[in-house]
Amino acid sequence: MEFKNLLDAHIHTANSYDGHHSAMRMCEAAVKKGIRSLTFTDHCEVDIFKEGNFETAMKHSVVEAAKSKSAFTGVLLVNIGIELGQPCYDVETAERIISDFSYDQVIGSIHNLRGEKDFYFIEDYKKIDVYSTLNEYFDEILTMIEWGKFDVLAHLDYPLRYAVGEQKIDVDMSRFSKKTDEVLKLLAEKEIALEINTSGLRQAIGRTLPGVEMLRRYKQLGGKMISIGSDAHMEEHVGAGVEETMAIAKDCGFDCVTLFQKRLPVQIPIE
Ligand SMILES: [Zn+2]
Ligand SMILES: [Zn+2]
Repeated sequence: MEFKNLLDAHIHTANSYDGHHSAMRMCEAAVKKGIRSLTFTDHCEVDIFKEGNFETAMKHSVVEAAKSKSAFTGVLLVNIGIELGQPCYDVETAERIISDFSYDQVIGSIHNLRGEKDFYFIEDYKKIDVYSTLNEYFDEILTMIEWGKFDVLAHLDYPLRYAVGEQKIDVDMSRFSKKTDEVLKLLAEKEIALEINTSGLRQAIGRTLPGVEMLRRYKQLGGKMISIGSDAHMEEHVGAGVEETMAIAKDCGFDCVTLFQKRLPVQIPIE
């Protein structure tokens, strides 16, 4: 299947501490791959905002994204966004950033529990209580959706990228079905889009985050808005897995991908 409306709504540049390439280079890569629209979403980890020097990073991020937006006018639709990590660990800072910069799209993410390190850095999932960790994680997701001042929920089952994908831990997700149903229902109710993060397709977990089962459930529970993002941190990954994911979304009953411009949803048909 070939789709013409290819878009990638989750992209990091060198203005993310773990990003590699400039916004311009990411745009060039997108054009080469036939992508029609990119949304830059550099990291802003709210809970370590000062220590991480995110104020400066955000200023650079927005300026460079805006430069690439004008340089690629008519060739590639560039949107300016942010990946806001742990916004509810410091709501005041989160809300100030959102109002200081006029973003097209705000992504909400949870990368770590309060006062703890990123799930990426947990060395041995066998040594921790995975179920209580996941329980706390989904509670933080719910708290963030209740707050609700964002447009797209990123990588809903993020900890599984490491626990299941890389460390091959057996996790019985049916234990969380009540809680994940609550998440999916609340997203639909609050009109926040569920992201299908394609990074898992090129990583050990071998599937999108979240996977097909969760996407179907979201649809059943009234979810209408989905976003698709590669979570690329380097030019090689721009648009990676987007086409395959559009086919997955279509198969799960979604006809459109939601793109955000000036914080308003725009429905892009999957065709
Ligand atoms: Zn993330
Ligand atoms: Zn990201």
